[in-house]
Amino acid sequence: MKHNLLLIATLAILVSCRPNQEKKEQQGLDRQRPTAAQLLLELDTNKDKKIATDEANGPIADHFKNIDVDANGFLTLEELKLSEKNQEERPPRQTETAVDLSNEVDTSVKVVSVNTANFISENILDGIKKQKVELNGIETLCYVFKTNSRATEHEMGPWCPRHIEDGMEAAGIWFKDDKVYDVSGHFIANLNEFYSDEQWKLYREDGSIRVTDTEEGCLAAAKPDVEEKYNNYCVECLPDYFKEQETTFVIPVTPTYLKTPQSFGRGGIGVALNGVKYDPAAPLHAILAAHTIAPLDDHGGHVNPHGGYHYHAVTGSTKKVSQEDIHADLIGYAIDGFAIYSLTDKNGNKPEDLDECGGHFDDIRGYHYHAGEPGKNEIIKCLHGLPGYTEVKE
Ligand SMILES: [Zn+2]
Ligand SMILES: [Zn+2]
Repeated sequence: MKHNLLLIATLAILVSCRPNQEKKEQQGLDRQRPTAAQLLLELDTNKDKKIATDEANGPIADHFKNIDVDANGFLTLEELKLSEKNQEERPPRQTETAVDLSNEVDTSVKVVSVNTANFISENILDGIKKQKVELNGIETLCYVFKTNSRATEHEMGPWCPRHIEDGMEAAGIWFKDDKVYDVSGHFIANLNEFYSDEQWKLYREDGSIRVTDTEEGCLAAAKPDVEEKYNNYCVECLPDYFKEQETTFVIPVTPTYLKTPQSFGRGGIGVALNGVKYDPAAPLHAILAAHTIAPLDDHGGHVNPHGGYHYHAVTGSTKKVSQEDIHADLIGYAIDGFAIYSLTDKNGNKPEDLDECGGHFDDIRGYHYHAGEPGKNEIIKCLHGLPGYTEVKE
């Protein structure tokens, strides 16, 4: 393990020393990390296909002995590859600016561990590992697992209707002022009235609706700075465009309750029991400023180029675990390890004592969250536990 950490440091420093490396504002694996072959090419000055001690410099030199597993004084491609492989098996790093939260821990609150048996196991790639990860200054035992963030227990889509005469069954949902609306051709045709703004016109003279129906269109429109030619579009990306992407979830095995709620980072805020990511609020302001809408499907999900399918709303479509009492069903876990339950209990009642994050306590479940109304554009509002994190490999 020490060996891995050293190599991470080595590679990270090497990368930062390379000129003209574009810095990518990309949460996710460090994509510019040099491969073993690149390292060899870079450091092997006498071209004998191995790195001698006098060829190594910087951190590679500092950690030479750790990488040189056969201790023969040379680093071969195989040894570099082995280190690379060991490194891939490490848990990903926490990418948000890490604030030390060790003084925020409140151990007086009952907490309940994540039960991984609740997940749909076929949707988890390569199983669930347990690894110690430092989260905001606190060493925490975490579950680390990957998914393709694709729903299997319900269809994904539809999102945008194709013609102003299409019915509600041809499209998903949209929301305004905490209310959910069924999207239909008629809804699209009347967006100017809906938003009291004459600039809205997402359809052509023949009644067909402008939809981003190529991957190129999706990439250009499904981002905060929508490209100009995709203004006045119904934005839709298909899950298949990004089906190779993997989302890694790092979630504390046992959550740590914090005195002060934490705001979300840029990554996922949790995971449904089907392995699909719960995301923070969709950036409505940016979407609407370009006169675009990016409907959710009837299940509360849509697709973007950073992790594919994800939910912004809970509509009751995903796997649920019924409770023995009348409490609402378990539907997922927040990224801090606290469970997320649906909003209403078996009698149809909503909890009335939810805190600013959407959580509360009971004796059986300890601290836990209840998902917000689907029109709120937020499944939970903040985190009351020590946050884990997600990472997307694109
Ligand atoms: Zn989204
Ligand atoms: Zn509850």
